Amino acid sequence: MSTFLIDDVLEEMALEGKKHFSPHYVCARSGIADLKFVTEHMLTHVGRKLRVYFEVECPEGDSDYAVDSPLDIVQEQRQCHICGINYIPSPEKVWIAFDFLPPYVEHLKKKLKGQPNLPLQTQ
Ligand SMILES: [Zn+2]
Repeated sequence: MSTFLIDDVLEEMALEGKKHFSPHYVCARSGIADLKFVTEHMLTHVGRKLRVYFEVECPEGDSDYAVDSPLDIVQEQRQCHICGINYIPSPEKVWIAFDFLPPYVEHLKKKLKGQPNLPLQTQ
């Protein structure tokens, strides 16, 4: 299994403007079925190409809100903003998710266009 393939897929996704994606999605696109392998490789890019966060799931399976770490989850009753169910969030019911860091996307766009001074929207 090649991490280059994962990097290629990430590059494509960044250029497509993909946001908030799971390692499952990267597995599906790269054809690499090993979720742990893909997740671990993606984690090596955190802080450079990617940021990582955790989506808290309600009992109905909605992604209610996101935290930077499962340790940030307050285990108090709340209402899911999607389905309205009352529940207590659990650090066990979270999904790891990633997002591209803007400087990485900017770098790829510049590389693709070969025009270093192209005006690009950054934050
Ligand atoms: Zn819900």
